[in-house]
Amino acid sequence: MVKTTLFLVSLFALSICILAEGVFNDRLEQNISGSNYQAQRREMVDKQIKKRGIKDRVILEAFLKVPRHRFVPEHLKYLAYKDHPLPIGEDQTISQPYIVAFMTEALNLSRQDKILEIGTGSGYQAAILAELCDSVFTIEIIASLGNRAKRLLDELEYDNIKVKIGDGYLGWEENAPYDAIIVTCAPAQVPSPLKNQLREGGRMIIPIGSSSRQDLVLLRKLNSQLVEEKVLPVLFVPMVDTTGKKY
Ligand code: SAH
Repeated sequence: MVKTTLFLVSLFALSICILAEGVFNDRLEQNISGSNYQAQRREMVDKQIKKRGIKDRVILEAFLKVPRHRFVPEHLKYLAYKDHPLPIGEDQTISQPYIVAFMTEALNLSRQDKILEIGTGSGYQAAILAELCDSVFTIEIIASLGNRAKRLLDELEYDNIKVKIGDGYLGWEENAPYDAIIVTCAPAQVPSPLKNQLREGGRMIIPIGSSSRQDLVLLRKLNSQLVEEKVLPVLFVPMVDTTGKKY
């Protein structure tokens, strides 16, 4: 009887130890990788974004906060904070951090703004925008990417982002007009539905050109007219329709 009790007590103690060690190891791992990613984010902000002239504190804070490594495929996590774009599957890419920051800054956003994004991709740009604005509506034409981004953004508790699967050339009429529109795939011309869905005084940033050469163009709607300014040569994936044909 005594022996059995002793045996049970030691078994109980042993399982507590194993459990505690498991929890401890998990914490340790989280701490190591967590602080490591945080250090990588700080380095990305300092060396890639601040250094190239982006000074807005609120934007820099958003880049320090959003876990970019969660938006890239598992096997590329170690490259998530490097100074270049990365593949995200389906022949698409997550943009270079500096380009995300440059486009975000160009839009001159306010806390109460409602934004439309065309080309959700990984959802990273949408998350950055959601840190800065009231609401983000984002459209992705490839269902598998859009659904994956939606799941991740839900998991990260971005309840001010709505993801839709569809052709972003047409915009998202129900929620128009938008204070700002950001397009992360390149058509040959500015889509007219997007022009119409921009509010008076609103801003749009969009890469315009062929598959081999594009300019990032900043448009402002003033007195119902769009004023255009070329701001940077870039290379984005083309904007396509549902049959895969380039716009
Ligand atoms: N903003 C993304 C990068 C997107 S890459 C990020 O932060 O990760 C460009 C995306 O545009 C691709 O996912 C591509 O599938 C999508 N795309 C191309 N044509 C489109 C269209 N007509 N409507 C919506 N999305 C489109």
